[in-house]
Amino acid sequence: MTKPRRTFAIISHPDAGKTTLTEKLLLKGGAIHLAGEVKARGDNRRARSDWMKIEQQRGISVTSSVMTFERNGIVFNLLDTPGHEDFSEDTYRTLTAVDSAIMVIDAASGIEAQTLKLFEVCRLRSVPIITFVNKVDREGRDPFELLDEVADKLALDVCPMSWPAGMGGQFEGVYDLVNNQLHQPTGDSKQYDGVTRQFTGLDDPKLAEVLSESALERLTSEGELAQGGYSGFDLEAYQNGDLTPVFFGSALKQFGVEELIEAIADYAPSPRPQPADPAPIDPASSDVTGFIFKIQANMDPQHRDRIAFMRLCSGEFKRGMKLTPSGLGKPIAIHSPILFFAQDREIADTAEPGDIIGIPNHGTLRVGDTLSEKNQVRITGLPNFAPEILRRVILRDPTKTKQLRKALDDLSEEGVVQVFYPEIGANWIIGVVGQLQLEVLVSRLEAEYKVDAYLEQAPFETARWISGDEAIVDAFANINQSALAKDRDNNLVFLARSAWDVGYQEERNPDLKFSTTRER
Ligand code: GDP
Repeated sequence: MTKPRRTFAIISHPDAGKTTLTEKLLLKGGAIHLAGEVKARGDNRRARSDWMKIEQQRGISVTSSVMTFERNGIVFNLLDTPGHEDFSEDTYRTLTAVDSAIMVIDAASGIEAQTLKLFEVCRLRSVPIITFVNKVDREGRDPFELLDEVADKLALDVCPMSWPAGMGGQFEGVYDLVNNQLHQPTGDSKQYDGVTRQFTGLDDPKLAEVLSESALERLTSEGELAQGGYSGFDLEAYQNGDLTPVFFGSALKQFGVEELIEAIADYAPSPRPQPADPAPIDPASSDVTGFIFKIQANMDPQHRDRIAFMRLCSGEFKRGMKLTPSGLGKPIAIHSPILFFAQDREIADTAEPGDIIGIPNHGTLRVGDTLSEKNQVRITGLPNFAPEILRRVILRDPTKTKQLRKALDDLSEEGVVQVFYPEIGANWIIGVVGQLQLEVLVSRLEAEYKVDAYLEQAPFETARWISGDEAIVDAFANINQSALAKDRDNNLVFLARSAWDVGYQEERNPDLKFSTTRER
């Protein structure tokens, strides 16, 4: 009998407490032994690679990774999503590989821009969300106001699962509305050290023995109002992405962390069917299928290793198995797949649907590839984005053209940038969706490929992939050569000077399709 899987991500705005919560979840899951290790490990790894200096300087996390832990017979796969908005592409793709998400919001800030964006991606695929209102040990906004904001901004039913007994200076604990337990802090630190008491309900007179008069009054009146005023918990509504259970807590002080793991274990869905062509992939199917949602190169700069992250959708994967990547057409044997246990990379012998495995390769695998035994399905719904910023890459040393091409090919495969080779002119053009990607590019070119290059304004603002009848495409190409390029896969791309330019061409060429994304 294989163990149940829960594959999930944490979505949040920077600073809401995602790192802290991740660390505490791993701690509870027994995956790490000392708090602080997540960041420390990250720093160690970062120190080895120059380009990641940007991460350190900006205090953001550019790379995403996978953390696996096991608790009470359930295997949890936590996929880390970079929080910075410039890395939305990577993040979006990671969200296609999860079955559910935890949304962390800061009790003082409520729903912030990045949370909303990420939530919208989850909504596209009806990914169920558990909400964690973090930092109740600090002054925050009124809990009702926060609940109403989640309900209004996200158009979700909300169901409070716990309630803070005061916040900030008045914080005296968190009451579990489902199990009628009060979790209380110890001493001045406000840390949760396992002090939990059982009650019969919010009207239990014994609550008065452990709470101050004002905290008791607030908790009972607010708690009763909360229970009466919002939806009850409905598993189906949650799993359909229509209702979010809301937990109040403090990642830093360890309130609500265990309840979150339990909620994921009890309510979050097992691996779901994956949208695919010609039919969705049933996780119970015995044929092995998976898809690549992320490529990370040069995790170790000494070895130029490149790891493709594959989410397994169906079947039992066994080491050495031969799978056919959709982009390649011929099978490859996967001899040393990697599992990501929280501390070390471990070689995987087997993996189940919902698991993520890392496949070392030299560029054969691409983001969006489906890997399967029979090569009969294609995963759908993996987004590719039209670049919003285009730049010319100028080499300082013209003898390094070959290295530059290799680097750009590599980095475009990894999804760091998109690269366009113009039909006319010598300078290659790169496209990104966020400014920060440009800095990452220049810094990695230098650190990893020893290519000294800089970026220059390009006369283009965005790009569209062109498709249509061959003769019509050719005719269009003949008169617009100076605005045409090929992407890495030799697809024809129209480089537009402005959004207006796109509209103009669309109008003049009704038989051509100008796509903002490249279909894979
Ligand atoms: P991330 O950017 O979302 O990963 O946020 P971090 O986990 O790095 O947290 C941002 C800051 O908030 C750090 O200084 C944390 O120590 C602090 N923080 C996180 N959770 C809590 C909490 O529950 N209570 C308090 N008081 N501070 C917290």
